[in-house]
Amino acid sequence: MKIGTLLIHNGHETDKALGIPTGALGTPVYQTSTFEQSDFFKSGKTQEFDYARSGNPTRKALEETIAALEVGSRGYAFSSGIAAVSSALGIFSTGDHIIVAEDIYGGSYRMLNTFYKRWGLEHTAVDTSNPDNVREALKPNTKALFLETPSNPLLKITDLRACFDIAHSAGLIILVDNTFMTPYLQRPITFGADIVIHSATKFLGGHSDVISGLAVTRTEELGKRLFAVQNGFGAVSGPWDCWLVQRGIKTLKVRLDTQQNTAARLAFWLKEQPNVEAVYYPGLVEHMGRSVHEAQADGTGAVLSFKTRTTEQALHFLAKTELAAVAVSLGGVETIASYPVRMSHAAIPPVERARRGITDTLIRISAGLEDCDDLIADFSKALE
Ligand SMILES: *Cc1c(COP(=O)(O)O)cnc(C)c1O
Repeated sequence: MKIGTLLIHNGHETDKALGIPTGALGTPVYQTSTFEQSDFFKSGKTQEFDYARSGNPTRKALEETIAALEVGSRGYAFSSGIAAVSSALGIFSTGDHIIVAEDIYGGSYRMLNTFYKRWGLEHTAVDTSNPDNVREALKPNTKALFLETPSNPLLKITDLRACFDIAHSAGLIILVDNTFMTPYLQRPITFGADIVIHSATKFLGGHSDVISGLAVTRTEELGKRLFAVQNGFGAVSGPWDCWLVQRGIKTLKVRLDTQQNTAARLAFWLKEQPNVEAVYYPGLVEHMGRSVHEAQADGTGAVLSFKTRTTEQALHFLAKTELAAVAVSLGGVETIASYPVRMSHAAIPPVERARRGITDTLIRISAGLEDCDDLIADFSKALE
């Protein structure tokens, strides 16, 4: 079955998978904290659900859905994408070392540099677009490799297979943040990742109306370890939020197909604009990682970034665009323009930002579902 069909037919197309025989096409929202257990005292019969932090049927439907989509064994839903990241990192111990992509999501980077640093989880951040850097960062206590591709905000590509080879021969656990691609476009477990993480706040939820996170493990064993953190840390996704994400997933294909076409058209158009200095999008022929990306993903996604020639032009664009919401986040039905130096990457020291090419002229666009002609007309005015 192709992934487009699996988005709809993944076992949870009715409530029967939850053991309820109504045939309802919508997953019921179990807004409950606990479950009656009197049968146990009458007949000794144990039951699947006892307390809603440990398990909730609405959450289970979403967790099984994302596990099926990512071709893994177990799925877990968290209260945010960053809760999914921090819970996944929670399977490691004090004294362990992990290698991370240097342009990993800012919040993940902050978590490693503050919270986990205090707890004694060491890390080395490297430019993973060159796999040799991963090999060079290996230490005797290295336990994991944490990747994200395409990266944010410059859409740099990491060769997953090449990095996985290095990680596998060193016995590392491989984590991939797959938020930008979603399982519709990229399924890292199919070529060897151990844990795939999502901010479901983005494309999976898709409507800028929920904060949620997901993680899928390749094996049952890792699933058990991650469940221990989910249940023990307790950063679970609530039933309404799970329901919203589950509903969002049903339309992922049509949204992403359209958003991706729009992103590609915007990238080609932006390249021709006199006030635009550079455009970053894996769909452009000149994009450095294009062939690697094509070998590991089914599409180029709906996020791009570009640099204007001057800072004034960038600020002018953000002030003048009427159709793009100037905001953090991405993946919603509305086009979002963000300004990394002041938003997502503001916490990175200016010197380090400059080294990574995150300049005052850089704008990131998440293409929405508006008519692309209107977006081009709006951007055209904003770039004047
Ligand atoms: C937004 C985002 C996160 C964090 O997710 P939240 O839902 O905001 O906590 C993690 N990784 C990536 C790639 C993101 O874009």
